[in-house]
Amino acid sequence: MRILLTGAAGFIGSHLTGKFLARGHSVIAADNLSTGREVNLAGFRGQPGFTFIQHDVVEPIDISGELDWVMHFASPASPPKYLSLSLQTLRVNSEGTYQLLELARRKRARFFMASTSEIYGNPLEHPQAESYWGNVNAVGPRSIYDEGKRYAETITMAYHCAYQLSVRIIRIFNTYGPRLDPKDGRVVTNLIMQALMGRELTIYGDGSQTRSFQYIDDLVVGIFKLMGVEYPGPVNLGNPEEFTMLELAGLVKELTGSDAPIVYRPLPQDDPKQRRPDISKAQSLLGWNPTVSVRDGLSRTIEHFRREL
Ligand code: NAD
Ligand code: UDP
Repeated sequence: MRILLTGAAGFIGSHLTGKFLARGHSVIAADNLSTGREVNLAGFRGQPGFTFIQHDVVEPIDISGELDWVMHFASPASPPKYLSLSLQTLRVNSEGTYQLLELARRKRARFFMASTSEIYGNPLEHPQAESYWGNVNAVGPRSIYDEGKRYAETITMAYHCAYQLSVRIIRIFNTYGPRLDPKDGRVVTNLIMQALMGRELTIYGDGSQTRSFQYIDDLVVGIFKLMGVEYPGPVNLGNPEEFTMLELAGLVKELTGSDAPIVYRPLPQDDPKQRRPDISKAQSLLGWNPTVSVRDGLSRTIEHFRREL
């Protein structure tokens, strides 16, 4: 297959690139390097089937030759990053998604969109199934990301209905693993880096808020399985193992052998109180289940960051 993958220099995009190339597919990797890192793609340069184009996907894009898939993973994803890139985040998910849907339509390619559990906002239903419509503050600080992704889902479904475009929408729950930018400000990277560097571990609020953490390899398997099924989605992909942030900090301390103290910082506005995926849809449709426990996935990630340091 010949695949245009946006956001390829980022955390998830670079793992997908590696898996596609390993299976003999061609990847045109498009990225503006705003939150991604060239080093994530360094190992693929010169490999048959790999092309990199530095491109802001908000701008129209044309690719010569046929395309089988347009896969849209470009977007800042870490809260501190998307808050500092507010308009860029809105635009890559709105105008960027539009440009890429147009390309998919012209090329008669299938379209794959990386959405997010942030669709559910600060959820009033727990766990969150795809049928839950969410609880998002449309004018709060996180709305540039949440509403941007909601729009991206809407326009993707509208192209599916208006043009019978073959589309897939996944709602990704907090995913972690090697190649996360150690400075991107998400909780897993912050806690691991702080523990490895002997610094205080930062907990926002009282640490009772929950998240459910998925290892990157499980996500990639879910993406491949959904590519093989004609179902527009949305489909939740996440690991239902749910932790409070205090529990997560305790586990990171145990696995790194750190005795660094925990310090409490203010809770960011509209920070969701709880989050856990209902993955029944992915289980029944794809026969997919996460297989990497948080303990194992964190151990692998800690080893990676140790080497990076
Ligand atoms: P990341 O920041 O590591 O990667 C995003 C990539 O998109 C970066 O390489 C960045 O440079 C690129 N990018 C941003 N704006 C662009 C633009 N206008 N044009 C071209 N490239 C652009 O983040 P990630 O964790 O790999 O996330 C990838 C996708 O998955 C995002 O769409 C994100 O919203 C979604 N997602 C991730 C998670 C997660 O836990 N990691 C959860 C839910 C959804
Ligand atoms: N968080 C924390 N310490 C940090 C970074 C984040 O306690 O150093 C909290 C944050 O307030 C949120 C949770 O961890 O409640 C997950 O944050 P992250 O930014 O990783 O992802 P998201 O909020 O998008 O789920």
